[in-house]
Amino acid sequence: MLKDGHGRVVDYLRISVTQRCNFRCIYCMPEKPFSWVPKEELLSYEDMFKFVKIAIDKGVNKIRITGGEPLLREDLHLFIQMIYDYKNDIDLCLTTNGYLVRQTAQLLKNSGLKRINISLDSLKKETTKKISQKDVLDEVLKGIKKAIDVGLGVKINTVPLKDINDSEILDILEFCENLDIPVRFIEYMENSFASTDIVGCKAEEILATISTKYNYKKLPRVGSSPAIYYKLESGYQFGIIEPYEDDFCESCNRMRLTAEGLLIPCLYFEDALSIKQTVKEDDTDGTIAVLENVLLNKPEKNRWTKNENEKQNETSSRAFYETGG
Ligand code: SAM
Ligand code: SF4
Repeated sequence: MLKDGHGRVVDYLRISVTQRCNFRCIYCMPEKPFSWVPKEELLSYEDMFKFVKIAIDKGVNKIRITGGEPLLREDLHLFIQMIYDYKNDIDLCLTTNGYLVRQTAQLLKNSGLKRINISLDSLKKETTKKISQKDVLDEVLKGIKKAIDVGLGVKINTVPLKDINDSEILDILEFCENLDIPVRFIEYMENSFASTDIVGCKAEEILATISTKYNYKKLPRVGSSPAIYYKLESGYQFGIIEPYEDDFCESCNRMRLTAEGLLIPCLYFEDALSIKQTVKEDDTDGTIAVLENVLLNKPEKNRWTKNENEKQNETSSRAFYETGG
């Protein structure tokens, strides 16, 4: 079992297989980065898999593939199949913007993928275009339908932003309830790559909007889930991810591997160590030493704060498209 320096069990690995993305979401990557990591600098699936095996052998039981847009990386299904074949009871999931899901859902499912989280910030064409800076809504909706049809477990991620898509919180909730798939509203996490003029909705505001139409009950936090779940009277459950809350980090069980082989202990901070050399050299002991070092130094808490006075110095300079969110 892997534990960090604060005694938290770490059994969840998120792997960002590429930084690249076909969207330019205003809260993540509003402009094309100055430069991408060159292809030859990326870890191959074979090298990533060497790390995956070590992580699984040490107790990791949940793996999420993310990005950038993970479905842009060629032959992703082969990587998924490698993980599935190594341990088929791993909770194997993917986070995607949905654009390529219609074409790939069946193949991903056949390769062993169990669940898929699809980002959907609006049900309106123009608003979707404003957020992702691309005309993508129809294709994303087809992707959601296809993922359900092929039998993947589907969840929706929505980042509500003031005066952009916050008027659609109820519509998105009802859209997801009708499809019987959970939605998680994610509080916008300030970072230095996002557009400067956006303001996210806080959990209280999201709940206030929902309470104009529905009664809900807060449920106890389950395991290490980053979301707090709420139940409507109909029984439908939705979640809110609140990284600005003190208890968000208390149950953190996550570590992140980037496409270039950096092992990152915390979404917020720049700290990271590379496993690239040790995996390439098949130096398992060396890779384990890096892993243990990273976990030992996993920060106790992020620095996102609700305190307006502290905010200026407390914006993460980690790119979400690099860590995978
Ligand atoms: N491209 C895929 C996608 O958009 O789902 C996967 C990568 S994306 C970085 C993973 C998740 O992070 C998405 O649900 C996205 O909405 C969320 N995200 C990105 N930037 C964010 C931010 N600044 N605050 C909150 N969530 C963010
Ligand atoms: Fe791309 Fe996902 Fe970032 Fe949007 S949130 S720019 S889809 S990586």
